[in-house]
Amino acid sequence: MNAHAPRSPAVRTTCPYCGVGCGVLARPDGRGGATIVGDPEHPANFGRLCSKGAALGETLALDGRLLHPMMRSSDGTLARVTWDIALDAVAHGFERTIGRYGPDAVAFYLSGQLLTEDYYVANKLMKGFIGSANVDSNSRLCMASAVAGHRRAFGADIVPGVYADIDQADLIVLVGSNAAWCHPVLFQRMLANKHARGAKLVVIDPRRTATAEESDLFLPIAPGADGALFCALLVHLADRQALDRSYVDAHTVGLDEALARSRDIAPDLEAAARATGLGTADIAQFFDLFRTSPRVVTCFSQGVNQSAQGTDKVNAIINCHLATGRIGKPGAGPFSLTGQPNAMGGREVGGLANQLAAHMGFSDGEVERVGRFWKAPRMARAEGLKAVQMFEAIAAGRIKALWVMATNPAASLPNAGAMRDALKALDLFVVSETTCSNDTVRAGPHVLLPAAAWGEKEGTVTNSERRISRQRAFLPPPGEARPDWWIMAEVARRMGHATAFAYRSAADVFREHAQLSAFENSGARSLDLSGLAAISDDEFATLDPVQWPLCHGAAPRDFRFFAAGGFFTADRKARLIAPDKPALAAATCEEFPLRLNTGRIRDQWHTMTRTGTSPRLAEHLPEPFVEVHPADAASNGLRDGAFATVSTRHGTCILKVVVSAGQRRGSLFAPIHWSDETASSARIGDLVAPATDPISGQPEAKATPATIAPVEFALGGFALTRRPIRLPSGTWWSRVAVAGGVGYVLASDDAAGAWREVARALFGDAALAEYVDEPRHFYRAAAFAGGRFHGCVFVGPRGAAPRWHALKPLFAGDLVDEQQRRVLLSGRRFDEIPDCGPTVCACFGVGLATIRAAVAARRATSAEELGELLRAGTNCGSCLPELRKIVEERVAVSGSNGSLLSPVSVRSLSSGGAELVIGRRFTPTR
Ligand code: SF4
Repeated sequence: MNAHAPRSPAVRTTCPYCGVGCGVLARPDGRGGATIVGDPEHPANFGRLCSKGAALGETLALDGRLLHPMMRSSDGTLARVTWDIALDAVAHGFERTIGRYGPDAVAFYLSGQLLTEDYYVANKLMKGFIGSANVDSNSRLCMASAVAGHRRAFGADIVPGVYADIDQADLIVLVGSNAAWCHPVLFQRMLANKHARGAKLVVIDPRRTATAEESDLFLPIAPGADGALFCALLVHLADRQALDRSYVDAHTVGLDEALARSRDIAPDLEAAARATGLGTADIAQFFDLFRTSPRVVTCFSQGVNQSAQGTDKVNAIINCHLATGRIGKPGAGPFSLTGQPNAMGGREVGGLANQLAAHMGFSDGEVERVGRFWKAPRMARAEGLKAVQMFEAIAAGRIKALWVMATNPAASLPNAGAMRDALKALDLFVVSETTCSNDTVRAGPHVLLPAAAWGEKEGTVTNSERRISRQRAFLPPPGEARPDWWIMAEVARRMGHATAFAYRSAADVFREHAQLSAFENSGARSLDLSGLAAISDDEFATLDPVQWPLCHGAAPRDFRFFAAGGFFTADRKARLIAPDKPALAAATCEEFPLRLNTGRIRDQWHTMTRTGTSPRLAEHLPEPFVEVHPADAASNGLRDGAFATVSTRHGTCILKVVVSAGQRRGSLFAPIHWSDETASSARIGDLVAPATDPISGQPEAKATPATIAPVEFALGGFALTRRPIRLPSGTWWSRVAVAGGVGYVLASDDAAGAWREVARALFGDAALAEYVDEPRHFYRAAAFAGGRFHGCVFVGPRGAAPRWHALKPLFAGDLVDEQQRRVLLSGRRFDEIPDCGPTVCACFGVGLATIRAAVAARRATSAEELGELLRAGTNCGSCLPELRKIVEERVAVSGSNGSLLSPVSVRSLSSGGAELVIGRRFTPTR
């Protein structure tokens, strides 16, 4: 590009990952990419981005993009078709199915990644014009229990507080939330409050997570026991006369029943300790902190929601806030941290099967009102099927046509193997996607529709504090990709509803959504966007982030609900809910004696279709793993760094073993991100039981009975290639993006010599340099083409398997010189090339070895000094807990002459001799 050419202006948009909803400034580079920085004026992040947001610029390439509509022909192959043909096929296919089997034989499965406008059009088409409520979303897997808990307590799905509460609280309680990794920018606000104002941080989680490492009090609770703990807290507050009787009397009902049931469940500290596995002293300390801190925010997330009793757990938390009047006031309230970027927007339009639209349900009056507004001919009159039920209905043959948009249910649903098999039975299976290959696309859709991706489309998202922000296009959609709302509107027109779906733009859709929220809304409905109902196209184009309610123009800054009551129930009072006795959906047994917990890691998102394209993000944890407590590892014959099969009643995966004292004994933890696209055997959805909460329908993804057993591979190693490759069957592999191509970590039982054929097949005509030592089980091959290091395969015996950190910089470079070739070919350990180790700080690419070296040389004695020396941890801060742990680890070792480890550490032996393995949770693959 001409260095003197005017730079493109930065476009204000919003991060597409988590529910924090950070503002982003994207400046296109004119070559299809863009530079990304945080938006200093966005009130969610004030310029900060976490490692995922900061790496967005690396995820804009078009490799693997679905660029054209495709249809499956009778011989099973997919072929490109025109939009007209594809849209006709979808519209007429749905019409045929509805005509033959009725409207409940069709379903849409949506995504919290969709924009509000996409959600609105899908919801309107299904619930107003097809006449079914079978429209659900992957948000069901994320926060459905929070929605149900809000509706039971408040009469509406409302997050009462705002992010400013996190700055103003004196006590922040995090329940089932690894916010340090899953909501990093918000977690930095919590730490800022802790350091600046002395706010206390209590973390309640079965695992000692990165979040727990920063806590003042960590409560390693037994799986499924959160509800019992908050029942005990309610009892404690009542017995200490710490309830706000005037608030309770004026604004709530149900305290006596909730308290009586809570007393049944956990009448005192001892009972609470038995139910939760916690010590009475720790519980007492938490209860005292809560009782004596008027400004308490309780943040909860998937650890609470993903439970067969998730709704009761949410209500047990809300009960404590209602009973003490700690709600809707600065620094006080229950706070659902939403997982996805637009789960909130989806909830606003009604994009779940148990909502109608705009915070209305299925009462006759609401159905009639929405029908009148939409001029809809065929309104759904009852709730539809929630995600797991929906896929079970597909398996049972009751649903015949399915349209999946922007999500990957073949990998992410519980019991994913069975769900995937069910898809084969569909008469019509439509997928709207940005990628041409993921597990759902592999499941054989009849029609594939290319959707515009983040950065290519216009619309809005709503974050966890009810703030609506614009997503704006800064790149043209590639090929024939189109926005999801456009695709659905085109199908609706072809189904005979041209007038009702005559949208010209996302602004058109948004206006209608805002108008529906205000339609016949006399204040009985919380979602009121009437202030935006007449927004012009120009105003939509420049819309600043706004928080609802927006009844009359902009809401007051940081609007909170319920400080003075005003709940959205018939009597305007909140409901304290009497929860059921806590219990997990399935008991452990001799065959499955452990509990499998699942969750996210710091630098990946969902099934990696976007984050998996970033080499920087892949550096942190490149392999699928299972965390195991040292005692469970010992009793099951597992070694840190070796492999294990993890099995449940539903499936089996093979994962790298990470022995971690931060893991709870009797529990396993495995991340959710890998799929058949990115690993040989790591699709965790296959393992998760489909047991769901009876109210919210959310699956219990945190406590599936499981078993684990060691697996041995003779060889380990890696491959670096310019394009994805197929490895020999029986190879265990994990694929990540690396600069210049893709990298595979692999393990195999094949003899070293057998890899010679693999390398030759892989690299074809490229000049191949090889090193073979069959007796010692080493094989190395490096391929060169045009002076370029084209790729390599390195394998070695278990325990001395080669590592790739030193080679990746050579692979990323354009050319290799003679000396580098000699090093590559020498068969030595590449001592000449500095190995920085796996990346800890993704923002500045600082590796573990570099950090350890700085600490060992005492050039840095704190995370802050590491920041000054190496810049590590000075941008998003996501790695600060890891940096602190590395410093602590060094202090623990040097302070004891290296012979005494901290109580939570373990020691493992590697080929290089004794190597310290951090015993909490931060070094899974090192
Ligand atoms: S915290 Fe990170 S992932 Fe979440 S919205 Fe902000 S930048 Fe995106």
